[in-house]
Amino acid sequence: MNIDKKLLTNDLRRLRSYVENGRKDDVKYEYARLYWFNETCIDLFDLGYEDVDLTEKDYEMIRLFEKKEKRKLLEFTKNNIDVLRGIDNFVKRLDANGFDALNWCNLKQFNENEIKDIMLSYYSTFGNKTYLIAKKHFDEKRISLNHGNNYQGYYIYSTNIKDGYIYLNDELIDTSVVADLAHELGHAYDFNTFIIPQSKKYSNIRDPYLEVPSTFFEIDFLNYLISQNIDRKGARTLKNSRVYQLVTDDDFEFSDYSKELRENLVYKLGYYFAFHLCEVCENKEKFLKQFNNFLTSRCEADIEALLSFVGIDYDEFLSGDIIMHPLLSNNKILSKNLNY
Ligand SMILES: [Zn+2]
Repeated sequence: MNIDKKLLTNDLRRLRSYVENGRKDDVKYEYARLYWFNETCIDLFDLGYEDVDLTEKDYEMIRLFEKKEKRKLLEFTKNNIDVLRGIDNFVKRLDANGFDALNWCNLKQFNENEIKDIMLSYYSTFGNKTYLIAKKHFDEKRISLNHGNNYQGYYIYSTNIKDGYIYLNDELIDTSVVADLAHELGHAYDFNTFIIPQSKKYSNIRDPYLEVPSTFFEIDFLNYLISQNIDRKGARTLKNSRVYQLVTDDDFEFSDYSKELRENLVYKLGYYFAFHLCEVCENKEKFLKQFNNFLTSRCEADIEALLSFVGIDYDEFLSGDIIMHPLLSNNKILSKNLNY
């Protein structure tokens, strides 16, 4: 499965021309995007602009951008220290309740038709809109899914281009890669539904909830595989492994790099939310409406208000009581299956 060459190279050309001719304050946000579009073109088609290598001046711009981003994330951390402490306590309680690190089991491999079928069936469980966004990415050839030695996975997008692409590369196209595709399509849903319409408000500064929609669709997809009896053992193993995203050694306050801060905070928060959201999304179409309110308001509302949109009590969220039993039970079934 590959990305349409003409589509991507055209977008690269448009983005380059925008960066060269656009308004100065807009352009700086698109520099890094241009670099990634270019790298992807080189990687896939051996085709790109040689001079897209960033200059010292471009890096300075990106550094300034990251500084702003870091300030925003640190402020979020300071205002929500209770939530971060709550997550740490929750992990300790999981450990105390016998949650185990488990060996990796062999995952099922899929062919391209199977992947498309599973993904479209899954995204249609939320209704037509999610289904159409997923379908568009297959139909317009916006997904690269290839065998390669080095694992890579990302969603590239540009608010200027108003669209994006999914790039996934792994030795085996197995349950793990398919779950990653569900994750990246979650970004695509968020981008198409909220980030483009609200791009002015966001100013492209990374928001703390950026990984919430993607990790939600990823974990919910793993639950879907279990419910459909598709590589149950693999799906349980992957779900189990995501718990480790809640563990971080670094102190947010003293994180030197915004990248580190982003990875620690944004993924930790994403998966903690995802585990919770998956426990309250029984009626998926109804849930998606509530979740959409959450996603639209995430720049203005505080955590307590966001949680109320999806019917989760703030104190319960802090304690993790809603997700304790489901995660322990998944772990227990897996240990039994793998004969521990
Ligand atoms: Zn992501």
